[in-house]
Amino acid sequence: MLRATSGFLPSRATILGNDGGTAMRNAALYKVLVASLRDEGRPDEEIRRFEQHWQALGPHSGFTCPVCFLDKNETHALKSLPEDDGEEPVKCPNCQSLFYVPAGS
Ligand SMILES: [Zn+2]
Repeated sequence: MLRATSGFLPSRATILGNDGGTAMRNAALYKVLVASLRDEGRPDEEIRRFEQHWQALGPHSGFTCPVCFLDKNETHALKSLPEDDGEEPVKCPNCQSLFYVPAGS
């Protein structure tokens, strides 16, 4: 005996890994920040210091501006700006440093 089905499939609750998304974005941003520190000619020691700080960040804390962190020992969260030409810029509200993260990464 056939059961009448409407073709409706109960949609499973979408489990969007919030943390997964954040971690990926975190990794992309981190790469950009470290590359920019290297471009500035920062010593490995400073980059390591920033790396240690970054790893200690909780999933919901803001992403620290590396320039303020290394130069002033201050933590200021980078702010996302609207996507621009395939890149998602983030800006430090304190020192105005701007970093470009490739969109969709
Ligand atoms: Zn800054």
